Amino acid sequence: MVRYYCPYCNPKYQFQKQSSKGNLICGLCGEDLVKKPFIRLNQIIALVAASSLLLPLIYTFIFLIKNQINPPNKNYQAISTLMIIIKEKLS
Ligand SMILES: [Zn+2]
Repeated sequence: MVRYYCPYCNPKYQFQKQSSKGNLICGLCGEDLVKKPFIRLNQIIALVAASSLLLPLIYTFIFLIKNQINPPNKNYQAISTLMIIIKEKLS
């Protein structure tokens, strides 16, 4: 099923209306409605971009937790320095 939407109005308050010509128009502003594709290409690009930013961060966290559970050496100062660096990155 293809959904229609108005690109100018708030999706919350939109309602469809049929114009005298027979095509669907926005009930609020009277603009022609645009077909909404099932999966937008922009969403895929955004998802890829977001994951490419988040994955190294998640990987760092996993690495950090692994090191805290089973530290490779007893140098705790190095771990706390790493924690500060990550805290600064997140804020
Ligand atoms: Zn509209």
